[in-house]
Amino acid sequence: MKTRSEVEQAAHLLGEERWTVWMNCGVHDWRRLPETDSGEHYCPKCWTLWTSDGAILHVPDQPSANKR
Ligand SMILES: [Zn+2]
Repeated sequence: MKTRSEVEQAAHLLGEERWTVWMNCGVHDWRRLPETDSGEHYCPKCWTLWTSDGAILHVPDQPSANKR
Protein backbone atom coordinates (compact mmCIF):
# COMPACT_ATOMS: atom_id res chain seq x y z
CA MET A 1 0.00 0.00 0.00
CA LYS A 2 1.30 3.43 -0.92
CA THR A 3 1.35 6.56 1.15
CA ARG A 4 -0.04 9.84 -0.12
CA SER A 5 3.46 11.29 -0.35
CA GLU A 6 4.65 8.34 -2.47
CA VAL A 7 1.79 8.99 -4.89
CA GLU A 8 2.62 12.69 -5.01
CA GLN A 9 6.27 11.88 -5.62
CA ALA A 10 5.39 9.50 -8.48
CA ALA A 11 3.20 12.23 -10.01
CA HIS A 12 6.06 14.68 -9.76
CA LEU A 13 8.46 12.25 -11.47
CA LEU A 14 6.10 11.90 -14.44
CA GLY A 15 6.39 15.64 -15.05
CA GLU A 16 4.79 16.86 -18.26
CA GLU A 17 4.18 13.26 -19.37
CA ARG A 18 1.51 13.15 -16.71
CA TRP A 19 -0.82 15.31 -18.77
CA THR A 20 -0.73 12.77 -21.63
CA VAL A 21 -1.28 9.88 -19.24
CA TRP A 22 -4.15 11.75 -17.61
CA MET A 23 -5.80 12.40 -20.99
CA ASN A 24 -5.45 8.70 -21.86
CA CYS A 25 -7.07 7.72 -18.57
CA GLY A 26 -10.30 9.50 -19.47
CA VAL A 27 -12.94 9.58 -16.75
CA HIS A 28 -11.77 7.93 -13.55
CA ASP A 29 -14.00 5.67 -11.52
CA TRP A 30 -12.18 6.81 -8.39
CA ARG A 31 -14.17 4.55 -6.08
CA ARG A 32 -12.58 1.55 -7.77
CA LEU A 33 -9.07 2.91 -7.63
CA PRO A 34 -6.58 1.70 -5.02
CA GLU A 35 -6.29 3.52 -1.71
CA THR A 36 -3.36 5.04 0.09
CA ASP A 37 -2.71 4.16 3.71
CA SER A 38 -4.38 7.44 4.70
CA GLY A 39 -7.60 6.69 2.78
CA GLU A 40 -7.22 8.72 -0.40
CA HIS A 41 -7.82 6.96 -3.70
CA TYR A 42 -5.20 7.22 -6.43
CA CYS A 43 -4.80 6.31 -10.08
CA PRO A 44 -1.74 4.07 -10.56
CA LYS A 45 -1.27 5.43 -14.09
CA CYS A 46 -1.46 9.21 -13.77
CA TRP A 47 -1.07 9.38 -9.95
CA THR A 48 -4.00 11.70 -9.41
CA LEU A 49 -5.42 11.62 -5.87
CA TRP A 50 -8.99 11.77 -4.61
CA THR A 51 -10.11 12.22 -1.04
CA SER A 52 -12.32 9.53 0.49
CA ASP A 53 -15.39 11.58 -0.52
CA GLY A 54 -14.25 11.99 -4.10
CA ALA A 55 -12.74 15.48 -4.19
CA ILE A 56 -9.92 15.50 -6.71
CA LEU A 57 -6.66 16.64 -5.16
CA HIS A 58 -4.18 17.37 -7.89
CA VAL A 59 -5.10 17.54 -11.54
CA PRO A 60 -2.07 17.65 -13.84
CA ASP A 61 -1.19 20.95 -15.47
CA GLN A 62 -1.54 21.14 -19.21
CA PRO A 63 2.00 21.53 -20.61
CA SER A 64 2.71 24.73 -22.51
CA ALA A 65 -0.71 26.20 -21.71
CA ASN A 66 0.81 28.43 -19.07
CA LYS A 67 4.08 29.14 -20.85
CA ARG A 68 4.84 32.25 -22.75
ZN1 LIG B 1 -5.42 8.13 -14.22
